[in-house]
Amino acid sequence: MSITRRDFLRLSGVTAAGAFFGGVSFLSGCKSAPDKLQGTRESTTICPYCGVGCGLIVSARNGKVVNIEGDPDHPINQGSLCSKGSALFQISDNPRRLSKVQYRKPYGTDWEEISWDQAVKMIARKVKDTRDATFIEKEGDVTVNRCAGIASLGGAALDNEECYTLSKFARMLGITYLEHQARI
Ligand code: SF4
Repeated sequence: MSITRRDFLRLSGVTAAGAFFGGVSFLSGCKSAPDKLQGTRESTTICPYCGVGCGLIVSARNGKVVNIEGDPDHPINQGSLCSKGSALFQISDNPRRLSKVQYRKPYGTDWEEISWDQAVKMIARKVKDTRDATFIEKEGDVTVNRCAGIASLGGAALDNEECYTLSKFARMLGITYLEHQARI
């Protein structure tokens, strides 16, 4: 029977927990605490913070995230996380997290809440207008078709396919200033 790294860690954890709680029960007569991950659904994802791209296991119960931890099967981090990654749970469970689009008008001092539809339309309008105003078709005799007024900044939260799509989209617009958050 082949045992994966995750199986091994689970078995070790169960054995260690059994030994520990057995000892506690023996000493105090207490019962072990219920497994906080019981009945959860696991899925894997990538840490959104930096370009290292550590793998995570997200556990959810009834559609609500109850735990996030390092994925021991992931080749990059092998279960470990830095302090930022370890605090990732706060991204999903945080009353201070903004979940609506906030917009501040030019020269305005207050933020107002707008819908995603409205925000996407405004962004599309600005991209079109900026591209039209800054597009360089030729440099001397050479056709360059370059959009000099827009830059594209990728983030570590994007997966491979999203990065591919975003960079293709940016190049389609003629954008040449392509950068990634992890290099900054
Ligand atoms: S856990 Fe830390 S090192 Fe790993 S991707 Fe996230 S921020 Fe980067």
